[in-house]
Amino acid sequence: MHELAVTQSMLNLALKYAERASAQRITRINLVIGELSGIVDESVQFYFDFISKGTLAEGAQLAFEWLPARLRCRACGHEFALQDGNWACPVCQALGGEFIAGRELYMDSIEVE
Ligand SMILES: [Zn+2]
Repeated sequence: MHELAVTQSMLNLALKYAERASAQRITRINLVIGELSGIVDESVQFYFDFISKGTLAEGAQLAFEWLPARLRCRACGHEFALQDGNWACPVCQALGGEFIAGRELYMDSIEVE
């Protein structure tokens, strides 16, 4: 799984921000994850607890906000959320479409003290 690499780069970024803000400690990291990103939040927390030991981020809480997948219909341009794995456009019933959201993974903000 790619969670370790993802978690490492997220930690590096959080530490950079914390240093810039002259923070003593990172208390919370707010993450946004698309439901298609393939990321398992428990794995991220697990790796995070491990690699953040001895850093400003040790003991920080990770908060995950999940973004639903969204598709844009190739036939009529309608945008809709992927529900129950149903790929059919609710307007014209065309199957498939282009993903416009759902694969993202980014750090929204960090809280420090
Ligand atoms: Zn359509």
